Amino acid sequence: MTEERSFDISQFGGEVHRLMVVAAHPDDLETTCGGTLALLIGTGVEAALLLATDGDIGTHDPAFTRETLAATRRQETRAGAQALGIRDVFFLGHHDGELVADLALRAEVAGVYRRWQPDTVFTFDPAWGGQAHPDHTAAGRAAVDAYMPSKMELYHPEQLADGVKVADVKRFFFFGGSNREGEITVDISAMWGLKVAATRCHASQFGQREEALEWLAEWNRETGRCCGLEYAEAFHPMRVW
Ligand SMILES: [Zn+2]
Repeated sequence: MTEERSFDISQFGGEVHRLMVVAAHPDDLETTCGGTLALLIGTGVEAALLLATDGDIGTHDPAFTRETLAATRRQETRAGAQALGIRDVFFLGHHDGELVADLALRAEVAGVYRRWQPDTVFTFDPAWGGQAHPDHTAAGRAAVDAYMPSKMELYHPEQLADGVKVADVKRFFFFGGSNREGEITVDISAMWGLKVAATRCHASQFGQREEALEWLAEWNRETGRCCGLEYAEAFHPMRVW
């Protein structure tokens, strides 16, 4: 029996109306799911970004301080979001390389879930042992850990002032592209140009050099190889109730 691994984007669009990406660093969104987001936004899905750190150690350029780099990367984040049609960006402002999925971060994420009311969350898989960056694991951990308490009225009730309701996240998708079991693959070939343009908004990371994004092209080509697609992004679904 051949498993159908290529995922029809219209299936996402049918049940996803408000999608939040929980990311660790300013360029995580574009690189992991920018093409899929562009497709979904094109079908009328509302999208938002919750960004845990400012990416304030992400340079070898001595001209930057942590403060000036954080400011630059917030601007780049807004530009990338705008390129993809994402209107709302929530900055938590943690330091890059120091993100911890503690109770404080859980409450911060829950508060944003309650204010923005996503039905779907895209984030890092907190249980994937192949993850080399601890901030990615922490962001995914906090995103999942916030799910249950954010639904309960007695959890941080001060967040529920001024008409804010408990959250109701219905599904998670973890960023994939590592050819693991159960991955669903989205054809982003038609959005590749837009994904590259949005990624290039992070000029402090990628500049304008053609070869700076060759790793990303190779990753998305490799992800599509399973299904005969030119460029693809992949996700691991996690159902919640
Ligand atoms: Zn990252």
